[in-house]
Amino acid sequence: MQTLCVAGAAAMASTAAQAAMVDEKDPQAVGLGYQADATKVDKAKAPKYAAGQNCSNCALYQGGSAAAGGCPIFAGKQVSGKGWCSAYAKKA
Ligand code: SF4
Repeated sequence: MQTLCVAGAAAMASTAAQAAMVDEKDPQAVGLGYQADATKVDKAKAPKYAAGQNCSNCALYQGGSAAAGGCPIFAGKQVSGKGWCSAYAKKA
């Protein structure tokens, strides 16, 4: 039981050290049509979206191959590598 608690505390500490994830309901995220799961992007609302596009292959994504990372569009927060927003720019 004690081991579990220590592991839980360590997990919480590492979460706190990382920037918060962008909330899809943030006004800025809504304005940019950000979705944490690119496959859920509504094509009717985001005509620019094409299947296969996501943060991890966007030129602005700073997370490398990590599941989440920074994006200058959402300063101080993290976006999901599987996410998408209308500022998407294909990585060269
Ligand atoms: Fe993702 Fe690129 Fe939009 Fe940033 S600009 S949220 S990395 S699609």
